[in-house]
Amino acid sequence: MDSKATYGVAADDPDRTPAICPRCEGPATTSVEDDIVEFGDIEIAITMPVRTCEDCDIQFVDHVGARIETEAIYRHHGLLTPWEIRDLRKRRGLSRPAFAAVTGLGEATIKRWETGATAQNRANDRYLRLLNDDACWSALKRVVAPKSEPPPARAASTQRSRSTTSAPPAAAASP
Ligand SMILES: [Zn+2]
Repeated sequence: MDSKATYGVAADDPDRTPAICPRCEGPATTSVEDDIVEFGDIEIAITMPVRTCEDCDIQFVDHVGARIETEAIYRHHGLLTPWEIRDLRKRRGLSRPAFAAVTGLGEATIKRWETGATAQNRANDRYLRLLNDDACWSALKRVVAPKSEPPPARAASTQRSRSTTSAPPAAAASP
């Protein structure tokens, strides 16, 4: 029903989303609990909301908890979270294809990072962080833009012939 549900983000403020029991769809109460996430050989302490169904009494972790867990793992590795990457692109006001065109990143790659399907490596994480800087973003756009300028081959040959002919006047112009 909501395309954003793919990676568990229902709204800008996910806590506003009412917790509904996945088994009976009954209302749930929330308790905040400390938990340990095991990820490979590392353990990360997190605090997350645990829901308890008022009707059938089961306990469950919904998308809010899932997001907290995912963010904790990315932060542990010092990487931008999927949501931060998406916000970065949105801040530039670009669709994924447009962002891909400017950055040279693959559109499918960006999608995988934004949905958390795969995490970006360290080099790309640093590249993304630079893209968040306005001066860096402007510099990148200048790098991408030269297609509209004169072909480099002609500019180089003009410069070469000019440098040979301009040598004598340059010497004469220093009295
Ligand atoms: Zn229930």
